Amino acid sequence: MTIAGIDLGTTNSLIALWTDSGPELVANALGETLTPSAVSIAEDGAVLVGRAAADRLITHPDRSVASFKRWMGSSAGARLAGRFYRAEELSALVLRSLKEDAEAKLGEPIGEAVISAPAYFSDPQRKATLDAARLAGLTVERLINEPTAAALAHGLDSVEEGRFLILDLGGGTFDVSLLHKFDGVMEVRASAGDSHLGGDDFRDALVALIARRHGVNPDKLARTELARLMREAERIKHALTAEDRAAYEIELAGELRRGEIGRAEFEEAAQPLLRRMRAPIERTVSDARVDPQTIDQIVLVGGATRMPMARALVARLFGRFPLIHPRPDHVVGLGAAVQAGLKARHAALADVVMTDVCPFTLGISVRDPSAPDQRTMSPLIERNAVVPISRAGRYYTVSDNQTGIVIEVFQGENLRPAQNVKIGELRMPVPPAPAGREGVDVRFTYDVNGALEVEVVAETTGQRERRVFRNEANLSLEELDRRFLALAAIKAPPRDQAENRALIARAERLYAESLGAAREHIKRLLGEFEMALAEQQLRDAAALRGGFAEALDGFERIWPT
Ligand code: ADP
Ligand code: MG
Repeated sequence: MTIAGIDLGTTNSLIALWTDSGPELVANALGETLTPSAVSIAEDGAVLVGRAAADRLITHPDRSVASFKRWMGSSAGARLAGRFYRAEELSALVLRSLKEDAEAKLGEPIGEAVISAPAYFSDPQRKATLDAARLAGLTVERLINEPTAAALAHGLDSVEEGRFLILDLGGGTFDVSLLHKFDGVMEVRASAGDSHLGGDDFRDALVALIARRHGVNPDKLARTELARLMREAERIKHALTAEDRAAYEIELAGELRRGEIGRAEFEEAAQPLLRRMRAPIERTVSDARVDPQTIDQIVLVGGATRMPMARALVARLFGRFPLIHPRPDHVVGLGAAVQAGLKARHAALADVVMTDVCPFTLGISVRDPSAPDQRTMSPLIERNAVVPISRAGRYYTVSDNQTGIVIEVFQGENLRPAQNVKIGELRMPVPPAPAGREGVDVRFTYDVNGALEVEVVAETTGQRERRVFRNEANLSLEELDRRFLALAAIKAPPRDQAENRALIARAERLYAESLGAAREHIKRLLGEFEMALAEQQLRDAAALRGGFAEALDGFERIWPT
């Protein structure tokens, strides 16, 4: 039976198969190799995955979700159309859709898969990924580290001994890993990254640039207008990868604006982002204690490394050219398929992570000094810190005669505690005094088993409180079985309807993003398409779709790939 390789990405996912001529990508029902990692529940209860779901993020925000890979290993999730879905379940829906694509191509069931996971994923995050596979009806014996998969795709496993630096700039994350291949084992010697730096931030730099140029504040734009501006910025970003200049035409605050952006101007605006890329690179190299001169290959992975400025930065930092695949966003999926092929021949590459890291930032909720009615995170242990680790901070009262200090413990990367996962709280009484006079010392200790000990000591009374929080975020076996059945009941629309569904979602998005006459026109086209579908019962569906898609293209500039 065939074993598939899967890259379950934050932004995009893909599935590839091992064949006699090497790894081969599988196209989805829309004929695309990248499937956006997005899920949406349609009005008829069917689950939409990929492009259609991504389009519905704008038109049906309460039914659609993306970027859920960030929640893996925690109990966070999203409420869609009234039902709560955990990250494992949302990931399972994406996996199920990829599995069906591969089965449609092969004409036989896929039972087993090799799935990639970031090198910094902790045990609970890896278990959550395995649980997602289980929920999707896939057998996954082991995961492969994303940088190892990238190395495999470049054939770097064939060297006897070597050091490789893998830089992966995706849609929303930047991951750096140093690999050491020795004695038949690929070892992750160090990894660091920025969980909030990726292609999306480069797009947002263009959004800010265009908005500034036309004197509008992007924060004050209507949601759909901002969405349209973001889409236009994304298109320009892609265009500037291939060309020196890109023209735009966009309605902002009710007025049509035209202009052109040069690559140099974009690169200037992105300087702060490029600067942020340096820290994790330097940290990985120094954590691994290697001399940069002894690194044998530097590999660029992830869609955003297509940008010439990302390549130039790396060439400048290391004084040499990195290895680049023509489709850097396919590399991890291709590598997972190589491992699947090796596994089928019982020759899978051993792949280990050396350091244990704390996968999330751990901190407490405090009053935001710059916006006193808001709460903000005060991080004590930062994501990716090597464990065991212990860190302490001192916190003071904020109002006069406060009788106690509540330490609310949160896990997550968001600035606002409410967006993160609350782990628990401790309360420490303090003697009444003017604001800022009484304080507590808070110490967090995180061990290799993922247990967090929180100790609070009151400064003046010396009173001590201690609590241990264990990671109980993963699902139990009974819970998995129950959710497996519940998920099986949520059906995807028949495969031959996928294109129609995606076109309808696209038309709805274009409607939301347009105004006036364009809106009416899109509405009429959509009505005609739906009517024709109902009447012709799909007899001439391909021609019908072609005509509708072409008409929609007129309302949207076409993207260079
Ligand atoms: P992830 O690993 O997060 O799932 P990918 O590796 O698929 O993500 O990368 C997605 C990012 O790559 C997006 O921000 C996208 O805009 C960017 N990207 C893809 N193609 C290009 C291109 N031609 N030029 C610039 N950025 C690109
Ligand atoms: Mg990726």
